[in-house]
Amino acid sequence: MGIQRRTFLKMLAGTTVTAASIKAFGLLGTNLKVVNDPYAYPPEYRGWEDLYRDEWTWDSVARSTHGVNCTGSCSWKVFVKNGLILREEQAADYPDIDPALPSINPRGCNKGACYAAEYVNGDRRIKYPLKRVGARGAGLWQRISWDQALNEIADQVIATIDTAGPDALTFFTPIPAMSPVSFSSGARLAHLLGGVVCSFYDWYCDLPPGSPITLGEQTDVAESTDWVNARYMILWGSNPVQTRIPDAHFVTEAKYKGCKVLAIFPDFASSSIRADRWLSVEPGTDAALALAICQHLIATSQYDPTYLKEQTDMPFLVRTDTGEYLREADVVAGGSPDQFYVWSGGQLELAPGTEGSSNKTLDLGGLNPDLSGSHVVDLDGGGQVSVETVFDRLTARLNANHTAAQAAPITGVGAAVITEIANEIGAAGSSSGGKVMIMHGAGTNHWYHNDLNNRAMLLMLSLLGAIGKNGGGFNHYVGQEKIWPVNGLKALSFPRGGAHQRFQPTTLWTHVHAELSDQPTGLSQTTRGYMFDSVANGWMPLYPEGALGTDKNSFVNTGVPVKDPKMMFIWRANWFNQAKGNNYIEQSLYPKLDMIVDLNFQMDTTAFYADIVLPAASHYEKHDINTTDMHSFCHPFNPAIPPMFESKTDWQIFQALAAKIQERAGGYTYPDPKWPGGTRDLSTLLNDFTNNGAIAADIDATQFLLDNAPETVGMTMAGITAQPQRFNNTTTWTSNLEAGRPYTAFLKSTEDKEPYHTLTGRQQYLIEHAWFVEAGEELPTYKPPVLAAGEESYPLLYNTPHGRWAIHSTWRNAKQMLRLNRGGPICYMHPADMATRGLADDDWVRMHNNHGQVIVRVKEMKSEKAGRVTMYHSWERYVGVKGQMANFNSVTGIRIKPTQLAGGYGQLHFALNYWGPTGVQRDTRVEVEKYNG
Ligand code: SF4
Repeated sequence: MGIQRRTFLKMLAGTTVTAASIKAFGLLGTNLKVVNDPYAYPPEYRGWEDLYRDEWTWDSVARSTHGVNCTGSCSWKVFVKNGLILREEQAADYPDIDPALPSINPRGCNKGACYAAEYVNGDRRIKYPLKRVGARGAGLWQRISWDQALNEIADQVIATIDTAGPDALTFFTPIPAMSPVSFSSGARLAHLLGGVVCSFYDWYCDLPPGSPITLGEQTDVAESTDWVNARYMILWGSNPVQTRIPDAHFVTEAKYKGCKVLAIFPDFASSSIRADRWLSVEPGTDAALALAICQHLIATSQYDPTYLKEQTDMPFLVRTDTGEYLREADVVAGGSPDQFYVWSGGQLELAPGTEGSSNKTLDLGGLNPDLSGSHVVDLDGGGQVSVETVFDRLTARLNANHTAAQAAPITGVGAAVITEIANEIGAAGSSSGGKVMIMHGAGTNHWYHNDLNNRAMLLMLSLLGAIGKNGGGFNHYVGQEKIWPVNGLKALSFPRGGAHQRFQPTTLWTHVHAELSDQPTGLSQTTRGYMFDSVANGWMPLYPEGALGTDKNSFVNTGVPVKDPKMMFIWRANWFNQAKGNNYIEQSLYPKLDMIVDLNFQMDTTAFYADIVLPAASHYEKHDINTTDMHSFCHPFNPAIPPMFESKTDWQIFQALAAKIQERAGGYTYPDPKWPGGTRDLSTLLNDFTNNGAIAADIDATQFLLDNAPETVGMTMAGITAQPQRFNNTTTWTSNLEAGRPYTAFLKSTEDKEPYHTLTGRQQYLIEHAWFVEAGEELPTYKPPVLAAGEESYPLLYNTPHGRWAIHSTWRNAKQMLRLNRGGPICYMHPADMATRGLADDDWVRMHNNHGQVIVRVKEMKSEKAGRVTMYHSWERYVGVKGQMANFNSVTGIRIKPTQLAGGYGQLHFALNYWGPTGVQRDTRVEVEKYNG
C-alpha cells in the first residue's frame, strides 16, 4: 500500500532523514543516506546534494556587461555550462580610486542579474532573419535566409540611392558609450554610403540644453565617487534610488561624511527618504525656485565674487541701447566683434580668453574687473553709449521678478522656506569653497523650458563658485552619454572625418516628417516657421536635403515636406516605442518609409513594426567596450558563447551588408558633394568598411577604437578583460584624470584657466541671439509649463519617469521584473484625483488627450502630487494594454522650442547631440476616466 499524503507530511515534519523514513518512502536502493547527526562537523557526505552542487559548476567564465543605456556600466562575470549561459554575477573587481574613499564595488542591479534568463535564453529571442508578410504591426512573419535578407536590403539601398539620393537613407542608433563598436557598425556603413546619422541625446531629451548655452559643452559631470566630497547635495529631478541603483549608496556615504541632502520633487519620490529635507515643488516650476534662491544669495552677498569675475561673463559690459555686449568693434576701428570689455581699474579693458582673443586663458593677470557699475563709453565713429555689467542686469531682473515672495505661490514652497534653504546653501558654499552639487535628472530636464531650468540651476552654482570643483557642479545624469574614448569612436565610425558625414537632429527630422505643428505662446511665428528659417539659415541640418522646399508659406501652411526619407535602419534601440508622437509617426512618417530594417535580439515594438528584422547577438555574445559618466573605468564585453541560433554581431551584420551592397551594385558610382572627390564608389565598400581586412573581426575593431583615443591608448582587450582599468590621465573632456582623485568636470577651466567653449570663453549667462531676445530669454528667467490652445480640457500633467523595474524598454517585458510590480502597465494617481473621477485602485482607465489614448490600470498613490498622473516610461505597445496597440507615448506629441533651433551664434551651432531641439514631453496633459470596455 502506498504512503498516504497525511503520513508523508507528518514524516516530513521530522528534522532528519531517518532510516525509517527512507524505508517508508520506498527509497531504499537510492543514493539517499541516513544522517544521524545533521549538525556534525565535518558533515557527512550526502550524494544527493550533488544535484545542488552541480548548479554551481561551470565550464567557463567570461567578463561582460549590459549595453542598455542604464549608466551603470557594471562589469559582470558570465558563467557557461554545456554551451549555454547559466547565470551571471557581479565581477566586483574595479580598482579603488583612493582606498580612503568608498569603493564602487560591487556594481549591479536587479535587471542585469536576469539578462541571460530573460533575453539570451528568453522566449522573445530573434533567432533567424524575419520578413514581414502582413501589415506593419500585425505580427505576421516569414523566416528567410540571411542571403535573402541581405539581398533584399542591399537592393533597396541601391535603389534608394539611385532614385532619391543617399540622404534618404536614415540610420538611428543611440548612446555609443553603451557599446561603441556596435554603434560604429551602422554609422560606418552610413558614412561610406552617404546616409544620415541621427542624433539621440537631444531626441530623448537627455541633453540639458542649458549646458551648451551656458558652458559650451554637451554635458560633463562628476563620477559618482565624487558625491562623497559634496557638502550640500540637491537631488533635483534625479531619483538615484530608483534609477542609479549601483551608485545610490554614495548619497548615503556622502551623508556619513557630513553632507546635507535636499530632495526637490513634486512627489515623495523614493530618494526623498534618503534626504534630510524634501521640498514638494509644483511640477515645472523649478526655475522659479532656483532663481529665487539666486536672488536671495545676491541680495545677502552670499556669492563668490572672485570666481564670478574669472569664470563667468558677469563682469562683462553690456550696452544699454542694444542689450548686447560692448565689443572691441564698437570702440576701436577694425576691432574684433568677438572681444569684450570689462571695467577694471577705472577704465575699459579687454577680457582675455574670449572667442576673438589671442590670449587663450581665463587668468585675469593684473585685471580686477568690477562686478557692478555703469559707465558711458565713447564709440568708434563718434557718439557715446551707456554700459552696465551682466551682473547688474541680472540682479535687476531677479529683484524685479524672482524674489522668494514671488516664487512662493508659483512653486508652492513658502518664502521663508526658500530663504532658509538659500541661506543653508550659501553657508555650505562659502564654508566649503563651493562643494555644492546638484544631481540633476529627467524630472526637470524633460520640460519644454528645460533650458531655463538648467540655466537657473547653473546660475545658482556659479554664484557659489561650485562649477569645476570636486564635490560641486551641475551633475546631470540622464543617459549614458559619456563615451570617454570619443576620438576612437569617431575614427571607427567616421573614418573620413565628421565633415564628410551627414548628421541631423532627430527631433527636427521626426517632427517634420511626422507632420506635426504648433504655435508657441507669445512668439511671432509658428514652430514650422522657425524650423524653416533655421534650416534655410544653415543652423540646423534636415534630410533629405530640400525636405522643406523653397516656399516657406507652403511648408508652414501644409506642414507637408516635399522630399521624404525612404529607408530607415535601427539598431541598439527601440526607436518607435520610445518615440514621442507615436501615433503621428505611425500615421504620417512610417508610410513614407519603403523599408524599415531593425537589428534586434528581441521582438520589441520597433522590431514588431519593421519590415525586415535581423537577429542580433546579445550582450554576452560579442566583443565591445562600455563606458559611463558614473565612473572612470574601461571594461569590456566578451563573448561568453558564440551568437546563438543564426544571430550575428552588429559589426558582422553591417559588414555582411557592405559586402552584399558591393556585390549587387556591380561597380556602381554616384555623385555626392559630401564625399571627398565628390563621387562614391561602391566597388570598394567592403574593404573600406574593414580597412582592407584589418578590422574585420569585432575584437580588432574594438582594439582599433582603444588605440585611437588618448583615454585608452595602450589598453588591450586582454588587459581590460583581466580587470577594469581607469582611463588614462589625459582626456578630451573638461578635466584630466588624476590618480587618487575622483573625476569632476571643468577643472581645466577652474584650475588650468582654459576658457570654456563659449563666445565669451566664460560660463555665459547673457545670450544675445535675436530669438532668445524675442522670447525674453536673453538672461535666465522662469516660464510656466506650456498650455497650448485646446489643452485646457486635459487637466492632469502627465509624468513619465524612469523606473526601478526596467531600463527604458529593456526588461519592461521581463517576467522576473513584472513579478515585482503589478505585472503590466499602470498609471499612478493621487487619491483625491481618483475620487473626483470615481476610480478605485486597480480599475481599468482610459488615459487620453488630443494625441491619442492608452488603456491601463490605475494604482492609488498617496505620494503622487495631486493634479498629476504618472506612468513609468517605456512599456511596449503590446504589453498589457486593453483594446489596441498603444503605449505610454500614445498620448504624447512632439514639441520643439524655437530657441533650440537657433544657430550662428558663438556656442549655439548644431553638432550631433550637442545642440539641437530636445524631445520634450513633460508639459503633456491628459484626462483619465474609468474604462468599462
Ligand atoms: Fe549595471 Fe546596467 Fe547591468 Fe544594471 S543593467 S547591472 S546598472 S550595467
